[in-house]
Amino acid sequence: METMYDLIIVGSGPAGMTAAVYASRANIKTVILEAGAPGGKMLKTMEIENWPGVTHGISPQIAYEMHKHSTAFGAEFKMGEVAQVIVNENDGKEIHLTNGEVLTAKAVIIATGTKERPLPLPNAEKLTGRGISYCAICDGAFFRNKHVAVIGGGNSAVEEAIHLAKTSAKVTLIHRREGFRADHILLERLEALENVEIMRNYVVDEVLEAENKVAGIVVKNVLTEELLTLADVEGVFVYVGVDPITAMVADLHITNEWGYLLVNSDMETSVPGIYGAGDVIDKKIRQVVTAVNDGAIAAESVKHQLS
Ligand code: NAP
Repeated sequence: METMYDLIIVGSGPAGMTAAVYASRANIKTVILEAGAPGGKMLKTMEIENWPGVTHGISPQIAYEMHKHSTAFGAEFKMGEVAQVIVNENDGKEIHLTNGEVLTAKAVIIATGTKERPLPLPNAEKLTGRGISYCAICDGAFFRNKHVAVIGGGNSAVEEAIHLAKTSAKVTLIHRREGFRADHILLERLEALENVEIMRNYVVDEVLEAENKVAGIVVKNVLTEELLTLADVEGVFVYVGVDPITAMVADLHITNEWGYLLVNSDMETSVPGIYGAGDVIDKKIRQVVTAVNDGAIAAESVKHQLS
């Protein structure tokens, strides 16, 4: 089966959903493809606190509202995982789904975002869901009144440590160096919490296990090489960075060395008619507010391309 659109948007996070609103309001025949749940990273956050004009913060409910909005002006929403994007001989864009289906369009916006990097330890995969987690919002409740560790020094690690501190008995944040990437305001908030300990210059050397579950961790001081066992840690929340989801365009050579899409100020890649928006593009600030900006620009550029 082959279906022809003006625009295919891959990914329904804030960038993709904003692009859908702008494109469909311009009468562009649009479909949004999503492999998981609409909302992207907004589903994994407690509150969006830096959306201008909303001082009290926005809840993850915004993901549902954006999803409704994204289809309100005629854009289609379709579940499907994209395997490959191909530019055919007529310059059309073929989107090949993992189920064998092929959709075609004149333009594509890649708004696939990023996925969490796993903890680089041998038993990390085996213990995922058995004490190791990548989502405090989803799994925090399993560790009520227990000791948990959070790994990383970025905004995600610090935000999620603050969230976990509300229900866990103790949170130990382990960061591999002295300075933090996380915003100062978040770090200050974390440091003020009584049940939080911050271990700077430490990495996790080993995740201990018993009965197929996490049963403590061994941490190593990177300056002294000293090892320390935190035997009562039952949950390990990993926030050691993210990687862009761009395997579907690997053959098009439109990414940088880390896999982020390279786009110009119109959000267009070096392949005409293929655009990028949101966390998946090469940029400095990855926030909801910058993602919606990218989505709007990308859709306006498609409008210009098709006119
Ligand atoms: P990130 O900012 O890249 O931070 C990853 C952290 O993990 C860094 O502190 C890094 O240490 C550490 N790390 C990397 N590899 C490690 C390893 N092998 N072992 C131990 N630690 C390791 O990632 P993120 O926090 O997931 O954030 C991703 C993006 O989303 C960022 O642009 C962030 O600003 C954004 N974000 C924003 C908000 C917000 O504004 N509220 C919330 C969440 C995420 P080094 O610092 O030493 O490299």
